Amino acid sequence: MTTMTTTQSLGDVKRQSRNPTNGIGPTEKEQVGQWGRAWEVDWFSLASVIFLLLCAPLIVFYFVMSCDQYQCALSGPLLDLYSGKSSASDIWSRAPSFSWTAAKIYTTWICFQVFLYMCLPDVCHKFLPGYVGGVQDGARTPAGLINKYEVNGLQAWIITHALWFANANYLHWFSPTILFDHWISLLWCANILGYGVATFAMMKAYLFPSNAKDCKFTGNFFYDYMMGIEFNPRIGAWFDFKLFFNGRPGIVAWTLINLSFAAKQQELYGQVTNSMILVNVLQAIYVLDFFWNEAWYLKTIDICHDHFGWYLGWGDCVWLPYLYTLQGLYLVYNPVRLSTANAISVLLLGLVGYYIFRITNHQKDLFRRTDGNCKIWGRKPKYIECSYLSIDGQRHYSKLMISGFWGLARHFNYTGDLMGSLSYCLACGFAHLLPYFYIIYMSILLIHRCIRDEHRCSSKYGKDWSRYTEAVPYRLIPGVF
Ligand code: NDP
Repeated sequence: MTTMTTTQSLGDVKRQSRNPTNGIGPTEKEQVGQWGRAWEVDWFSLASVIFLLLCAPLIVFYFVMSCDQYQCALSGPLLDLYSGKSSASDIWSRAPSFSWTAAKIYTTWICFQVFLYMCLPDVCHKFLPGYVGGVQDGARTPAGLINKYEVNGLQAWIITHALWFANANYLHWFSPTILFDHWISLLWCANILGYGVATFAMMKAYLFPSNAKDCKFTGNFFYDYMMGIEFNPRIGAWFDFKLFFNGRPGIVAWTLINLSFAAKQQELYGQVTNSMILVNVLQAIYVLDFFWNEAWYLKTIDICHDHFGWYLGWGDCVWLPYLYTLQGLYLVYNPVRLSTANAISVLLLGLVGYYIFRITNHQKDLFRRTDGNCKIWGRKPKYIECSYLSIDGQRHYSKLMISGFWGLARHFNYTGDLMGSLSYCLACGFAHLLPYFYIIYMSILLIHRCIRDEHRCSSKYGKDWSRYTEAVPYRLIPGVF
């Protein structure tokens, strides 16, 4: 009965907004400006793309195989190969391969997440004060459109985790260690989906794009495959590839994977270490924050500026669930018991990092939502007025805030994120490099993202952006960088 009512209400919402692009479509005016897509493929970008397409799956395999066969010692396989103790084919043959059991688990998981995404309209916003869910607008695309999204990730996360706990405590349909037990076999399934969705997205861009004016063809096959052609590929009006693949299966899975690793520690050692609890708690805060703020996520770079290709499709299916959870995996093989002082220091670093990350993001969101009519640190925010042209030749006006954390550095949200990332790694002690991969990777990702974003903003806002960088000269750390 409840399902009927909620389904009907989604139907009503959809009817009210039958055109999910809100009718703000491009006019026939001559194209006078382009932002967000003016990339040219230089040889360095092309070489990086080909390198990543070839090597990223091997890197992921190398990490999980090192844990499975060498107790997470990254040098283990290399030393064995160098000394002739093992050949590459020995290592490969010792690794679990594709299995139909893993395929069934993975298919059930993906179908369940598609069901939660497509069939259960959000009800959380009716009960949770301050939470923004249900049908929401995305940001304006380069073609001048505004897409609509059904934001129901928090609900999907809660239902999935409620079922997980119900299973672990009462139903006993499967062991809570299921993800750990099939970890490498599941990697095969995740790769099949990741490559499948990237290939489908490319074909779709040529054959039936959701919006032809928001496609970017560079003419280079590898670059287009990796970075994507379509801006917001969709099936029908509501299955949005970016929102689905980034949030679920990737981020809903993150906390489940950690829980499975904790369950494995319990099974192997009869206890869950304080380091495992810290990793579970700190990463769960980050994941819950993502879903609590999923409507805000519609305005971030992933949704607003990146096109959907292998980078997002494969990255969400494989890279994120496998490499963002390395700390938990490491702690199964190397249980670390932190002293109370160390545990508290790690917790504090994680919480302070999270605070900076959240408040910085919140300040920008509040500023943009109220068009500057708000208080930041108790005062009316200062800002720089700026304007840009969309592809239909229309001029739009915007503001860049120079108050609060946005006055300290241009990406202080990344600084908070990096502090949180470091805390997860420190929870694992200093015996191995593997758990520190996350902070190394996040530093590269966010610095590269900073540069990419500034390149885009500079071509979008022109001189106004230069005025902004003069007012806020540092990117991540005031006085340093
Ligand atoms: P931001 O949220 O910083 O968004 C950048 C955009 O904000 C710019 O393109 C510009 O967009 C606008 N903007 C820039 N400066 C200002 C200003 N002073 N005032 C108002 N608007 C401004 O970046 P992301 O989307 O990359 O990141 C969002 C969060 O997600 C970050 O906290 C980041 O740490 C996190 N993240 C986490 C990742 C992970 O893998 N864990 C990966 C990537 C991000 P406009 O065109 O609208 O002006």
